[in-house]
Amino acid sequence: MTDIKTTQSKLTIIGTGMAGMAAAYFASKNNIDTTQIGVNSGIIYASGYIDLMGVHPIEDGKTWENPWQAIESLVSDIPNHPYARLDQPGIERAMDQFLEFMDELERPFIIRKNQNTEVITPVGMVKQTYGVPRSMWAGAVALKENRPCLIVDFWGLKAFSAKQIADMLTPRWPQIRSLRIPFPAVGPSADLYPEQMARSLEIESNRVQLAEALKQSLGDAKTLGLPAVLGIYKPEQIREHLEELLGVDIFEIPTIPPSVPGLRLKEAMETSITARGIRLLPQKRVLTAERQKSGRFVLSVGDRASGEIQHIIESDGVILAGGRFLGMGLHAGRKEIREPLFGLPVFQPKDRALWHQANFFDPRGHLINQAGLEIDDSFRPTDLAGKVVYDNLFAAGSILAHQDWMRQKCGAGLAIATAYGAVEAFKKML
Ligand SMILES: Cc1cc2nc3c(=O)[nH]c(=O)nc-3n(C[C@H](O)[C@H](O)[C@H](O)COP(=O)(O)OP(=O)(O)OC[C@H]3O[C@@H](n4cnc5c(N)ncnc54)[C@H](O)[C@@H]3O)c2cc1C
Repeated sequence: MTDIKTTQSKLTIIGTGMAGMAAAYFASKNNIDTTQIGVNSGIIYASGYIDLMGVHPIEDGKTWENPWQAIESLVSDIPNHPYARLDQPGIERAMDQFLEFMDELERPFIIRKNQNTEVITPVGMVKQTYGVPRSMWAGAVALKENRPCLIVDFWGLKAFSAKQIADMLTPRWPQIRSLRIPFPAVGPSADLYPEQMARSLEIESNRVQLAEALKQSLGDAKTLGLPAVLGIYKPEQIREHLEELLGVDIFEIPTIPPSVPGLRLKEAMETSITARGIRLLPQKRVLTAERQKSGRFVLSVGDRASGEIQHIIESDGVILAGGRFLGMGLHAGRKEIREPLFGLPVFQPKDRALWHQANFFDPRGHLINQAGLEIDDSFRPTDLAGKVVYDNLFAAGSILAHQDWMRQKCGAGLAIATAYGAVEAFKKML
C-alpha cells in the first residue's frame, strides 16, 4: 500500500485527449493552478489533421470548403450542437491560440483562414480538413495542382498501400504513380511498424540510404509521398533533410492507427504542459468524485486495474474531458448509457433498440453517436430539463451530446473549441 498524497488544485482536468490537452494549455496560458489526469486517448489514433467542420448534413454527405459557413448551417439546423455555445470569434481565438501552441512545439500546422483544404486519408480518399500538419502540406498542394507525384510504401508495412492510394486518386490525379521498396536497414521479409520506422529515420545514415534507394525511381516526379513515419522528435528536420537529398517536395500521408503524427503530438504536448506548470498525472484514472458541502470536489486518483487509490485531489472546479466510449468518459451498459464518475444525466435515445440503425453504413449515422452531456452556455453539464448540475463542473470534447464528430469531420476542432470555452467559463468563476 502506497502513501496517499493530497493535492490542492484550483482546476482539475479529467482527460488527456485532445480536449484535455487543449484545456491544459489554455489553463496554463491563464496561469491557472491546474492538475490533469488521464490515460491513453484518441490522440495516438488520430491522423494528425485538425478537422474544424467538414460535413453537414451528414445524411447528404455535403462537404464544405468554408468551415465557418458549415458551422453556421450546422448550428442553425442543430441549435444544441456544442459549437452553438461559442461564436465565430471565440472559435477562431481557440484555434489561433492552439496553432500558436503547435508552433511552439515545433509541430507546425498550415491553415487557410476561411477555407478547408482537401487532404489524403490513409486509404486514398480525399477529405476536407482545416489544419494540415506542415509535414503533409505538399501533398495537398500537389493534389490540387495535379503535380507529377510518386507515392512510396515499404515491404513489410501492413495496412498502407501506395498502390491503393494511387489507384483511388488516379481519376482526379492522373500524374500519380506508386512504388514499393525495402525499408533501409531491414530485409524485405521483416514486419515493419510505423513507430519503429519513425525512430529509425531519426538516424541520419538511414535517411541517406533511403534517399539512395528512392533516387533512381523518382523519374519526373516533383513530389514524393511517404507514409507518416518521418521521425518522432524532429519530423520537420527529417523531412527537410530528405528533400535536400532528393531535390523534390516531400509529404507524409497518415497511416492507420496508432499513428506516428498522433504519437508526436501526444509526447510533445505532455512535455510542454508539464514544463508550463500543469501537474500531470499520466496513466492514472479518477476513480471517484464527490462534491463537498463547501462546493469543492474531492477526486480519488489511482490505478483502474487494481482500484488502488494513490492520490486525492481537492479542487475548486473540474473540467470533464473524458471522451465518449473509447476514452471511457461514458459507459454503454445493456440498457442505458451512463456517465460513471459524477452520475451526470446523459442525453441518449429513449430505447436501446434505437442506438444503432439497421444498416451499419446508414448515411444518417447511429444515434448512439449523438449521446453525451448536455451543457449550458458556460459549458456546465445540465440535467435534461436544462438545470445546471454543479456550478463549478464544466465539460468539453467528444463527451458532449448532439454531435457526431466522426461523420461531421469536426473531431479535433470541436475538442479544442469547447476546451477553450470551458476554460474561459471557469475563469469567470474565479
Ligand atoms: C481513429 C481516430 C482518428 C481520428 N482522426 C481525426 C482526424 O483526422 N481529425 C480530427 O480532427 N480528429 C480526429 N480524431 C479525433 C480526435 O483525435 C479526438 O479523439 C476527439 O477530438 C475526441 O477527443 P477527446 O479529448 O474529447 O476524447 P478522447 O480522445 O477519447 O480522450 C478522453 C480522455 O479522457 C480520459 N478519461 C476518461 N475517463 C477518465 C477518468 N475517470 N479518469 C481519468 N481520465 C479519464 C481518457 O483516459 C482519455 O485520456 C480521431 C480519433 C480517432 C479515435
